[in-house]
Amino acid sequence: MSAMRKKTVHSGRFALLFLLSTAIIVSAVPGAAAEASGAAKEPVLIIDPGHGGMDGGAVAPDGTKESGINLAISMKLRELCLLFGMPCVMTRDTDALPYPPERTGIREKKVWDQHRRVEQINAFENAVLISIHQNNYPDTRPGGTQVLYASGEASACFGKLTHELLRCCLCPENRRVPAPAPDSIYLMQKVRCPAILVECGFLSNPAELSLLKSPEYQTRIAAVLLAACCRFKQSANENPSPEGETQYERKDDLLLHGVRE
Ligand SMILES: [Zn+2]
Repeated sequence: MSAMRKKTVHSGRFALLFLLSTAIIVSAVPGAAAEASGAAKEPVLIIDPGHGGMDGGAVAPDGTKESGINLAISMKLRELCLLFGMPCVMTRDTDALPYPPERTGIREKKVWDQHRRVEQINAFENAVLISIHQNNYPDTRPGGTQVLYASGEASACFGKLTHELLRCCLCPENRRVPAPAPDSIYLMQKVRCPAILVECGFLSNPAELSLLKSPEYQTRIAAVLLAACCRFKQSANENPSPEGETQYERKDDLLLHGVRE
């Protein structure tokens, strides 16, 4: 969008992302063991790709559905979690949802899906949630990320931290501020863990839509979100061991090195 964002991407970043992509491919199978169950000691990152199934979410002028971009970014975030040893689960990992046959109407299906996600998320005693969405607006000019957070101090801290990392790494000109999620977002009202909803960009902004559709930019967003999660876990740990601190610092240093403008 801005001159900063349009500038040529530094070759070092491409190199790192290439290395990450390669490493992800070779580590995906053994790393799958890190994909967590509720029994994990370390907090589990729950990745929620917004919408899906018969609910495509917002639709870009070129017909691109929000649900597909949400899933693409989420899958990249999961790949990075596997690579960096972060326990994670997803609320969906395909575009199809297993609606019960008795749920026939569109509204009924959406309600079932929202309840299903809340139930899945609240089954974890020790988790953090990132719900991934895209914005849309009648005007083509608005752009940039927007972070909404659930109620409670921990969610607010996670939201502010994530917003600042996204702003400084991906869109320094972004003047938005993180905000409490409105009551209308059922998922954010009902989950019990620290939770944020990240609107990664505007489908209605042609330059941003092009970025959001690119695998490279999707990986950059995912890397920033994982780095934010590492930092939040570090800050949330009241008695961190020196070893634990070092581990997280190393992870987000490496993640952000390849992403910064
Ligand atoms: Zn959405």
